Amino acid sequence: MPSEFALIDRYFKRPTRHTLLGVGDDGALIAPTPGRELVVSTDMLVEGTHFLADTGAEALGWKCLAVNISDMAAMGAQPRWATLGITVPPAPTFEWLDDFARGFFACADEFGVDLIGGDTTRGPRAICVTILGEVAAGRALRRSGAGTGDSIWISGRPGRAALGLAHLQGRTVLREPQLADCLAALHRPQPRVELGLALSGLATAAIDVSDGLLADLGHILEQSAVAARLQIPQLPAAGLERDCLLAGGDDYELLFTAAAASTAAISALAAELQLPLTCIGEIVSGPAGRLVLCDADGRDITPARRGFDHFG
Ligand code: ADP
Ligand code: MG
Repeated sequence: MPSEFALIDRYFKRPTRHTLLGVGDDGALIAPTPGRELVVSTDMLVEGTHFLADTGAEALGWKCLAVNISDMAAMGAQPRWATLGITVPPAPTFEWLDDFARGFFACADEFGVDLIGGDTTRGPRAICVTILGEVAAGRALRRSGAGTGDSIWISGRPGRAALGLAHLQGRTVLREPQLADCLAALHRPQPRVELGLALSGLATAAIDVSDGLLADLGHILEQSAVAARLQIPQLPAAGLERDCLLAGGDDYELLFTAAAASTAAISALAAELQLPLTCIGEIVSGPAGRLVLCDADGRDITPARRGFDHFG
């Protein structure tokens, strides 16, 4: 087992792209671009709560950064810098650290993020990433901007990550090729950074879907003090996948609202990014947070469960 410092040097010290001083000193130095605002977000992943004990280290490395980058996407920000706090059991194998670092830096390289510092300690496995991003002053996407009459949109094909997890936990049985597709969604989520950047100025509110569509839409509704009507048949999923989309999580797609007049621009964006963008309902006036689900016949359905709440 190398010393803590040798371990940091070997696994976490890499050349940086846009950092004045990175790993190795008492603090990192960064120079934000003039005229831009910094966006900061932290996400923790704890073994047994956010990932199964037998999750591959490479997948974990990718995911712990990807979920943070997803928060930058939801703010309409360009991710730039990250710190990594990691607790590893007393004898982490080199293989585990190698795999973890490979996954982490694959994600960092893909999205242009510099790892600029962190902390490494012994203990039950847990990972905490803080990410910093930049957004043009006054242009960040918030949860609070949705207005009556806005359309509600979702990116990609969410629901697959929760379905993959249900398979791993023996709650359902998937067959190929759906199995590989769902496990990829669970282990290698693709944060929608390009979409988030393009939505700045177009979307009125945005959030990334990490706890299920109903729960995350609920945050937009409450913070915007509006209600919503969702059209179940318009959701980009069916059957069990749709249940997973509504109440499951972990997809890291973007859920956003936009004025109805922006529909053509959003469709053009979907074509440009080659990413499905689906209109699934609209913002209506009503008590803050009220969510009505409509089936194909226009009947209201009351959701049984709004998603995953760690303390619920
Ligand atoms: P200090 O005692 O001053 O907090 P540390 O000994 O904890 O410093 O860390 C030494 C250097 O290594 C610091 O620059 C710190 O940011 C960095 N570092 C520690 N752990 C990690 C990690 N897991 N990933 C990236 N950088 C790390
Ligand atoms: Mg320290």
